[in-house]
Amino acid sequence: MASSTPRLALKVDCDTYQGSKAGIPNLLKLFDEFRIRATFFFTLGPDTSGRAITRIFTRKGFLKKMLRSNAAALYGPKTMLYGTLLPAPRIGELLKDVIRSVDTAGQDTGVHAWDHIRWHDRLDRLSEEEIERDYGRAHAAFADIFGRPARASAAPGWHATSRSLAVQSRHNLLYTSDTRQGSPFFPEAEGRVFGTLEIPSTFPTWDEMLGDPQYPNEAAFIDAYAASVQGTEVHSIHTEVEGTARLDLFRRQLDRWRADGVKFVTLEELALEALAHPQNVPIRRLERTSIPNRAGLVTTGV
Ligand SMILES: [Zn+2]
Repeated sequence: MASSTPRLALKVDCDTYQGSKAGIPNLLKLFDEFRIRATFFFTLGPDTSGRAITRIFTRKGFLKKMLRSNAAALYGPKTMLYGTLLPAPRIGELLKDVIRSVDTAGQDTGVHAWDHIRWHDRLDRLSEEEIERDYGRAHAAFADIFGRPARASAAPGWHATSRSLAVQSRHNLLYTSDTRQGSPFFPEAEGRVFGTLEIPSTFPTWDEMLGDPQYPNEAAFIDAYAASVQGTEVHSIHTEVEGTARLDLFRRQLDRWRADGVKFVTLEELALEALAHPQNVPIRRLERTSIPNRAGLVTTGV
C-alpha cells in the first residue's frame, strides 16, 4: 500500500449505547466539517459494559489501565453499570435512526458486534455455533437498519480465532478489520488459509496513549500521532472517547493532520485497492501479542 501522500483510514468503533447515541452525531458533524470519510463499525445488541468490571478481578493490568485512563470519566457512570445493576440497552433497536444517519451522511459502515463484552472477554471459550449465533444476529440487525447486508466487520478487542474466521467466511464479506499491526493480508489459522482480506489497525489507540508519561501534555500527544502517519495507516477511534469525552482534542488532532496534508480514506477503499491485485496480498498466520499499555493480548498476523 505504498503511497507518496500519507494516508489515514479512521476506523470508528461504536462499543456502547451512550457512546453511540452521543458520539455518532458528534463525529458525523465533525467529519462533514472536515470533509472526511471514515468507516463506522456498530455494536447492535445489548450493551453489557458493566460486566467489564469483572475484568478487574480476572485480568492482570486491567485495574491499572482503568485508573490511568480514568475509564469511568471517559465512559460515564451509567455505562459502567449496564448489564449489572442497570438493564442492558439494546443498541440497534434504540438507536436505529442514529445508526442509519451514518449511511445518509455518506460514511462507510460495517458490523462491530452483537454483544461487545461477550466477544471481547469470551471469544476463546465460545463454540463456532455460539459465535455464529451472535455474529449472525449482528448482521441481521445491520441488514434491518440499512436495508442491505454488511460487507465488512471489525472484531471487538482485536480478538480473532480460527473459529471466528470460519464464521465470518460464510458471510460474503469484502474484508474484516480484526487485528493489529502491519499491512493487509489473508489470514491463516490452524492450518487453514481464509479468503477474506484482513486489514489491521496500525496505530496505538488513544486509551493506550493517554496517560503515557512519554506524552506529558496534549501538544506532545498530537505531535506523536502526527509524526506517525507514514504511508498508509489505520487508526481505531471510539465514539465514547474521540466522539464524546475528548471531542475537542480529537478536533485538534484532525486540524493537525489536515495541516500536514494527510489524505483520509475508507477501509472499503483500501480493501478494493488491495483486492485489485490479490496475488500481491501476503498470507500471515494469526498470533496473539501484547501491546504497550493494553491489558490482555490482541490478535496480529505474523
Ligand atoms: Zn470495540
